[in-house]
Formats: sequence, C-alpha cells, structure tokens
Amino acid sequence: DRDGSLLRVEALEAVYGGAVQALSGVDLVVREGEIVALVGANGAGKTTLLRAISNLLPATRGQIRAGRIAYAGRDVSRTRTDALVRAGLVGVLEGRHCFRALTVEENLIAGGLGRGSGRADLRADLEWVYALFPRLTEKRRLPAGLISGGEQQMTAIGRALMGRPRLLVLDEPSMGLAPKVTAEIYRVLVDLNRERGLTLLIAEQSVTLALRHAHRSVVLENGLSVLEGGAETLRARDDIQRFYLGPR
Ligand code: ATP
Repeated sequence: DRDGSLLRVEALEAVYGGAVQALSGVDLVVREGEIVALVGANGAGKTTLLRAISNLLPATRGQIRAGRIAYAGRDVSRTRTDALVRAGLVGVLEGRHCFRALTVEENLIAGGLGRGSGRADLRADLEWVYALFPRLTEKRRLPAGLISGGEQQMTAIGRALMGRPRLLVLDEPSMGLAPKVTAEIYRVLVDLNRERGLTLLIAEQSVTLALRHAHRSVVLENGLSVLEGGAETLRARDDIQRFYLGPR
C-alpha cells in the first residue's frame, strides 16, 4: 500500500453458519518487515482472522460479512488461497498440519510445487530449510506422522517457507510445545525477519512470547481489535498486565 502496509484489515466482520458472529470489527496493519503478534484469549477470534486473511473461512462454513482485506495494495477478500500463496501470502495453520503419510521431505517439496519451481530451485530451497531446521535433516525420510510435535511444527513452517513467502502468517506456532522447542522455532522466525526481511503475523496465546518477539502486538477481545502497540504500551496497561501477564 502507499503507506508501507503489506497487509491491511479494516472493520472486518465474520460469521459462522450465517449466525455466529466471530469477528465484529477488526482493524490491523502489518507493515513490510514487521513482526506483528495477534494476542487474545481462547475464542477471541485469532484463528478466524487468520483464516479470513488466507481466504480459508468457507471450508469451516464461515464467511466475511463486512470489511476489507488488502494485501500488497489490492483487495484480496475474494482471492483464492492458492493465488494468495503464489503472491507470497502463506499461512501455517493451527495444529501444525502435515501430510502424515508423506515423508518430511515430501511435505516440504509439496510447499514448493505451487510456485512452479524447477528441480534446481526445489533442491536449493530444501537445503535452505534443512539448514534452518537441522533436526529435519535426520528425519527427512520418515513419515511426518511419526515425528515429534515440534518437528511437525518445523515441517509445517518449512513447507510454508518452500513457497518463498513475503508475508508468513502463523497460527499459534508454540501450541503444545516444550519451551525449548518453542524458543528454537522463534529463533528461526526472528532470524528470517532480521536477515531476509520476512514479514510475520503470528497468533500467539502467550503474551509473554508475543512481547518478547514481536515489534507490535494487536489485542483481540470478543472479535474486536481493542488495543495495539509495542511491548511498553501493552505492559503499561494495567488490565492487560493483570489479565495476561499476572500480578506485578
Ligand atoms: P483459540 O485460541 O481457541 O483457537 P481463537 O482466538 O483462535 O481461539 P476462534 O477460533 O477464531 O478464536 O473463535 C472465535 C469464535 O468463533 C468463538 O466463539 C468460536 O466458538 C467461534 N467458532 C470458531 N470456529 C467456528 C466454527 N467452525 N463454527 C462455529 N463457530 C466457530
């Protein structure tokens, strides 16, 4: 966009089954090169928002009722998910989805195919992902269903990276993982942001993690974006502090 925003969500409303209002007015801007965290309690609407951005709501009987989503300066609320991926908007869904019967390497390659890369490109991108997540190298020939949860999350992120994203959207990458594994994953994400300028939008249940890694956080409450700012802004708010970070 003219103002440097890569993603701009305005007054977004979304419903499920035509009735359940999951989002009732979300505003969100992600600028090129930023890490933005989306925080909020269970059911606040984080997953719904990320699915709306990737145009995946219809698969769960959800739909956008009002508002606007712009990516790289154009309205994408009706753009198919595969076209978004080709344009660099790539999502890693909740629950670290992998093709469980395919090997780790086949999962990774699947992420590169949509872009129409040649063999040499795919090979180079695979080596890049293995360098980022060395543990995956050892597991490359195993079915993804047989590796650990952390390795599955790395595989899901690696598959998304094979699409050479410009904006990577992640839904709770730390969900159910040991702190050490979470730290390993965040280190890779932060390095990609610093070294390659990869823009990140991350739904994160842990406000502590969000404040540690994101440049800015957006707080969702009952389907509404109620606050946004850097770590200082959020920490200064007594209600946020008490609700999400515990007593001072
Ligand atoms: P969580 O961390 O639990 O995933 P969230 O912030 O991602 O929470 P959403 O999953 O987006 O929240 O849910 C927002 C609201 O929409 C909730 O009230 C939820 O019950 C409702 N909801 C989510 N998915 C569906 C669905 N497929 N059908 C009907 N209602 C849904």
